[in-house]
This record gives sequence, C-alpha cells and structure tokens, in this order.
Amino acid sequence: MNGLGNPAGCGPVSAIVLFGPPGSGKGTQAQFLREALAIPHISTGDMLREHIQAEDDLGREIKAVMAAGQLVSDALVIRMVEERIDRPDCQHGFILDGFPRTLPQAVELDGLLGPRGIGQKVIHLKVDYNKIVNRLTGRRQCPQCGTLYNIRLKPPIIPGRCDMEGARLMVRDDDKEQVIRQRLAAYDAQTKPVLDHFRSLGRLNDIEGSEASPKVLAEQIIQVVRAR
Ligand code: AMP
Repeated sequence: MNGLGNPAGCGPVSAIVLFGPPGSGKGTQAQFLREALAIPHISTGDMLREHIQAEDDLGREIKAVMAAGQLVSDALVIRMVEERIDRPDCQHGFILDGFPRTLPQAVELDGLLGPRGIGQKVIHLKVDYNKIVNRLTGRRQCPQCGTLYNIRLKPPIIPGRCDMEGARLMVRDDDKEQVIRQRLAAYDAQTKPVLDHFRSLGRLNDIEGSEASPKVLAEQIIQVVRAR
C-alpha cells in the first residue's frame, strides 16, 4: 500500500492514533473522523468484546482478564491489530483507538506501520480533569427502563424523574466522583509511558479539548492529520 493516495487528502496513508481520557469525547471524535475521512475506526476494546460475545476459548480468556481490570497480553492485541490493518478497508488509513496502550505495543506499532509505508499521526485529546468529572457526574439513569440523562446536557423534563417511567433517576456506581477519579488516575498511569514515548519522538500532537465544541475539535484534528 506504499504511497497510496488518500481520499481524505492526507497524502500518504496514515494511521491516526487517538489518545484521550475517559469522558474526553474520544468516542465522539472517532466517529466524526471516521465519517469525515472515510476510514475505519479500529478499537481494540471493541474487537476484544467481539471475542467475548463469540463465547469461544479466546473470548473466555479475555473476559477473565477484562473483568479483573487488567490488560490483555501485548502479543494478542498486536496480532489482532496486524490482522485488522491488512484488510482492504484500511488501505487509505485508519483510526486506532485504545492501541497502543503499553510501551512494547507502541514500539511494535512502528514495526507494523513502517514496512507497510503507513505514517502515524498521534493525537492527544487533553481535557481538564475537573471538567471531565463535572461532565460524568451529571449522568443519571432510570433504574426501570435504563434511559440515560445528563442533568446539565440532557436533563429530564421533571428534575430527578424519568420522562418515560416517572421513576427516580439514579447515579450509576461507576459514575460516582470517587470512581471517576480512580479511572482517570488509572488512565494517566497507563498512558503516560506511551505518551512520553511519542513526545520524545516529536510525534505527539496535543489538542486542547476542554472548551471547544466536538465539531471544532474534529476540525482541529483533521488539520493536524492533513498537515505534512
Ligand atoms: P477499552 O474499551 O479501550 O476501554 O478497553 C476495554 C478493555 O480491553 C481494557 O480494560 C483492557 O482490558 C482491554 N484492552 C483494550 N485495548 C487493549 C490494549 N491495547 N492492550 C491491552 N488490553 C487492551
């Protein structure tokens, strides 16, 4: 696939490596980029969950690792990513979400992309942690029908009550402030060595995501992706 043109206007084929803490809007950005650039969104978490749903031997192994809050082996995710990026829909580029997550994976990524002539655009979506906590703690759920609300962004008609059921809305356990702060700390510990690695190679593009709307952020990311 060396030097293939890209309909997204990025010149040579690129892998967009997307980093962002939970609640930073990374999923929304991946969706925008997938549509705007017409390239696939590859999430290692989603691929692993597909194995779990298939209920095969590998799926059972992965389920146990994930349930323990641990990382799946580097060898497995690297093999999965290698197999995925060789599929025809990746020939004009792709978005990597959740990979690389460890230093060996980041080093291996060079080994996967270099020989295939695929460049890397590493995006780090930076969002103020207090803002994230604020956003995520606003989430409420109906215990009866599961409908999600956000007291600031998508409030119910009657405060504290589900629009459908009238039931009293609840805060999910993993949306409690203490848990959110733990998840953010875990994200920091996990990604820091990988981000340091990309920064030391001069490849890290920090995008300030605290204030801008999702659309404006997507435009900024696309500019970085298109820059030579
Ligand atoms: P995610 O959906 O990206 O939050 O990933 C969910 C879970 O899948 C993680 O907590 C890990 O157990 C596993 N996982 C996803 N991506 C990777 C990766 N690159 N390396 C190791 N484990 C991963």
